[in-house]
Parts: sequence; structure tokens; C-alpha cells
Amino acid sequence: MRALVFHGPNRMELEEVPVPEPGPEEILVKVGACLICGTDLRILRGKKTKGVRVPSILGHEFAGTVVAAGPNVGEFRTGDRVGVAPVIPCHTCAYCKNGRENVCANRTALGYEYDGAFAEYVRIPAAAVRGGNVYRLPADLPFEAAALAEPLACCVNGQRNSRIGLGDVVVVLGAGPIGLMHIALAKAAGASLVIVSEPNDQRRSAALELGADLAVNPKTENLGDLVKEATGGLGADAVILAIGIPTLAEQALTLARKGGSVNFFAGFSVGDVASLDVNLIHYNELKITGTSAARREDYGLALQLIAKRLVDARRIVTHRFSLTHGPEAFKFAESGQGIKVAILP
Ligand SMILES: [Zn+2]
Ligand SMILES: [Zn+2]
Repeated sequence: MRALVFHGPNRMELEEVPVPEPGPEEILVKVGACLICGTDLRILRGKKTKGVRVPSILGHEFAGTVVAAGPNVGEFRTGDRVGVAPVIPCHTCAYCKNGRENVCANRTALGYEYDGAFAEYVRIPAAAVRGGNVYRLPADLPFEAAALAEPLACCVNGQRNSRIGLGDVVVVLGAGPIGLMHIALAKAAGASLVIVSEPNDQRRSAALELGADLAVNPKTENLGDLVKEATGGLGADAVILAIGIPTLAEQALTLARKGGSVNFFAGFSVGDVASLDVNLIHYNELKITGTSAARREDYGLALQLIAKRLVDARRIVTHRFSLTHGPEAFKFAESGQGIKVAILP
């Protein structure tokens, strides 16, 4: 089969590799769509190294069709259309036992420890099949829309940490794919006002299409003043940092009202540090949270939200490339044109 093989920073090649064989309790999925994630770009550029093997096949946001099942696979049959939650928890560590399987101490993931889906086929390991990571797709849900369930699941987790609810004022910093999904989720959760800050014109208009009430260009407008103005001087109930820029972490604290929350959703580059005015946290009683990956239940919910169009995948997955044009797809995704890029093997 053809696959995009990662050989280390800045080295990814389209190669012919053997089709993986499904072992006991494993299934083989023919990839229908695999989306390029910001994390894949960070791995390709050497900015993320933890859990990454060389050589390996990346790609953790995917959906496809079961084409083979190993011995003792009860639940899935050839022809089933499935999406897979890529984080495989151990189910026994202290975190798993306390409802935090997304930060499982022994977690492994497809696209990291196991080969991912920038390939024609992907083998789903027994631990994932047995552990309930494989979801049958709602009828008629296109693969590229279903593949969005993984990053959306992470956003669902982030929104839960932010406790966004009815009537809230939410500020989202960055309107890349993640920021856009946060906007859609905040609106679905009942936020009364969603303000987004994003320098890219195309992304600001996408943000407005997905339900943002105000799209600010931080290069030409003063975000802090606009948030104050829109909230009677109070600030936002929730601020979500949807892009990993340390100076924005600093700014995020200034945008929240007293008792408000700030979620550091985006990952930063290894070694990044930010200087925070800690008195803002102290005097304003801010709730600071982070977000890492997603639970299986978040994935299931994300699939439903996409199928019911509460999050419109068609506005988020904007470009498609074949596997053969994988390297161009990565360059395109990095250029910031388009929003979410799909590879359709
Ligand atoms: Zn991802
Ligand atoms: Zn665990």
C-alpha cells in the first residue's frame, strides 16, 4: 500500500509499504479520510517529539471502512463504516479510574505509538477494538466529516473544562480549525456572545459563518478594549487560547472577568515559556485550566454533534488532496490557506 512515512523532522516520503495484517481482536480499516492536524505539522517540523517514532506513519483524525478482521473480533464486520478515537487508555491507572482516561499514565495513540492513517490502510490494535475506541458512523456521514470527530472531541473536552453555558460571553483566541470548532460549540452550548481574535481575513469570515458575533483583527484593532466595550467593562466569562503563542497566554488573563475562566487549549512548542501576571489570577479569582486530548465519550458526542450539524463539518474541512499529493497537502496546510485539509487515499 502507499503511505506517507515520517523519517524525522522535515522528512516525510510517499512510499510503498506492506499492508498491515490484523492479528487477534484487531481490525483493518481502509482509510476513507485522514485530516491533517496542527500536531502533525508540529511533529513534521520537529516541534513535538514525545511519543513519536521514526520511521512511522502519522495521522490520527480518520474514518474509513472495515475491510478485514482478525480472529475473535465480535463486534465489527467487513463493510462497517467506522471512526476511531485515537487515544487508547489503559483502563487501570489512577487517572483512568477517576474519569481522566485522556491523560492516562500509560496511554498510547494511533498516529503516535501505533501507525496512523496517512496511508491506504490502518490496523486498529486489539486494545482499541476491545476498549471501545471504534465507533460505527451515523448513516450517510461522509468520511471527511466523521474524521473531524477527533479534534472536535478535544474541543468538547476543552469546553467542559471551561464550563461554558447559557448566556456566557466567550473569547476565542485564534480561528484556525480548533478556534472555529470552539466557536461552534460555544454557540451550541448557549453562549450569548462569542468574540474571536484572528489576523487572517479568510479565517475571520469563517468564524462569523460558524456563529461568532464579533471577529476582531488583533493587528488593527484593540481586542482588550473591544471585549471591555462588549461586556460593560467586565470582561469575558471564558477565554479559550486556541493557538499556542506564549504572549497570548499573557493576554488571555487580561480578557477574563473576575471569576472567569481561561483554558490553555493549544499546545505550545517544546521549551516555550510565558510570563504571566499572577496577580490577575489571584485578585480576579480566575480559573485556569488546560486540555489534553479527549475521552472516548467525547469522541462519541463529537460524532453526534457533526451528524446533527450542530458543528458544520462542511465549513471546516475545506480542502482535499490525494495520498500521492500528501507532501503538497502538508505544505498547503502549513501555509494557513484553507481551514482543515483532508487526505483522501
Ligand atoms: Zn489532532
Ligand atoms: Zn490509564
